[in-house]
Amino acid sequence: MFLGGLQKHSLIDFPGKVSCVCFLSGCNFRCPFCHNPDLVTARDHRSGMSDLDFFSFLETRKGLLDGVVISGGEPTLEKNLPAICERIKSMGFFVKLDTNGSRPHMIRSLMDKKLLDYVAMDIKTDPDGYAVLMNGNGSVEPVVESVRDIMVSGVEYEFRTTCVRPFVDPAVLGRMAMMIRNAKRYVLQPFRRARILAPEYFHDKQPGYNAGEMKELKAVAEPFVQECFIRG
Ligand code: SF4
Repeated sequence: MFLGGLQKHSLIDFPGKVSCVCFLSGCNFRCPFCHNPDLVTARDHRSGMSDLDFFSFLETRKGLLDGVVISGGEPTLEKNLPAICERIKSMGFFVKLDTNGSRPHMIRSLMDKKLLDYVAMDIKTDPDGYAVLMNGNGSVEPVVESVRDIMVSGVEYEFRTTCVRPFVDPAVLGRMAMMIRNAKRYVLQPFRRARILAPEYFHDKQPGYNAGEMKELKAVAEPFVQECFIRG
């Protein structure tokens, strides 16, 4: 697998579980606000850790970690993902997948095989805004399909959005919340200006929302879903 990085310990990435987070390289989106530019631009960006090293590391964490978060990049681009999840689960760990939702067949296959214990899917913007994030080549349909599949799967899940202008504003967020209406859990995260994929995109702009504005956004989304909260 294209293992681009490993965070050996986390208390915040897998709800209710102590986990490690592995970051797989490569992504089919180009979100200007992406905080993992190295993983996105180089499919073969590697951490220097081999598959063997990774699974040996997990051996040493049996009984210490509850779960493994598979993140990215976009991890569903990894064709061996089912085998990877199977191996992790066979070691006794829970598995959480972080995804942009663009590969519904892979997500469905993992859920059908009972290889996922939690799915966190990003909702980036409203349906009309997705083309920009996909470099103009792509349709939002697969994303919508993943939303539907996840909601009926029986797997624990959350949808989540990084609130960053112009991809999110109150009107846009209303349409995004419609995409996931009746969802169990919707998490809004403030944008943090750090190292990002395309800083020039935000030149002279104020893309982030302050705490008060985040509460206003939450009030927009709340009526559409069962639970909505701000994280971070
Ligand atoms: S934010 Fe996620 S989906 Fe967007 S480019 Fe970065 S890794 Fe890909």
